[in-house]
Amino acid sequence: MAQQARAESRIIGLVPTMGALHEGHLSLIVQAKKECSPLIASIFVNPKQFGPNEDFAKYPRAFESDSERLKQAGVDALFAPDAAEIYPRDFSTYVHVEGLSEKLEGRSRPGHFRGVATVVMKLLQIVQPHRAYFGRKDAQQARLITQMASDLNLDSEIVVCPIVRERDGLALSSRNVYLSPDERKAATVLHRALQTAKGELTRGVRDALQLKEVLQRTLGAERLAKVDYADIVDAESFEPVLRVSKPSYVLLAVFFGKTRMIDNLLIEPKTPGSDELVFHL
Ligand code: AMP
Repeated sequence: MAQQARAESRIIGLVPTMGALHEGHLSLIVQAKKECSPLIASIFVNPKQFGPNEDFAKYPRAFESDSERLKQAGVDALFAPDAAEIYPRDFSTYVHVEGLSEKLEGRSRPGHFRGVATVVMKLLQIVQPHRAYFGRKDAQQARLITQMASDLNLDSEIVVCPIVRERDGLALSSRNVYLSPDERKAATVLHRALQTAKGELTRGVRDALQLKEVLQRTLGAERLAKVDYADIVDAESFEPVLRVSKPSYVLLAVFFGKTRMIDNLLIEPKTPGSDELVFHL
């Protein structure tokens, strides 16, 4: 399909997912559908991006309803390989994006980004899309894949799309189904903490330490929230910043019971160098 579409100068799109689809995934499909034909979606719960004590076995799987939803959304083809197809017995080549893979999500989830980079590389090689769509919900992942595509001269443009949220602000995630009703209520503190940080920034606060204190205070007031990290980082390097002056992320990773949730706020100067900020929540 890809070869024929390329020969006909059509824009091939790919939306990689792990299934258990929600409106966040669908927003990627809608965006890709506007720009690509054919549009291919993939569903693959990638064993190599889960740690030994993580939720690979119990990760939600809903293949029948997912493929129906994708068809309804106008996806032209679904690629849903078996693990043995992607990782045959003698599989031995991995992609490691240095630096970005070791911090924040990478520090909390050793090996995670090696698994992500490797599987995305393989999906891009197999499908050969002109454009591949990722969500900013997983900001570090999107940044890492963009870096990989650039470093390895890949012929696919990496497109990063906004976060889709529930009405109460919780970012949609396939893992939200793990939350008990009390944890689900508590998890809204992620969005509240990001909004509090946004409020401080709007008031003119630029000092990262001051902003981090506000985050810790807001998150700390929620009994069920156990903070893994709450950081303010440069949007390119993902290194902590002292002051917010360039594109930056407020990044949160918080446990509610056994469920680890992430969320973020992207901050950009309105124009390069300007003190006025725009926010992507
Ligand atoms: P996953 O199935 O969790 O691997 O996610 C597949 C893609 O959907 C990734 O690029 C995610 O960043 C993206 N995604 C997940 N949740 C959301 C969301 N709430 N809004 C936008 N994109 C999302």
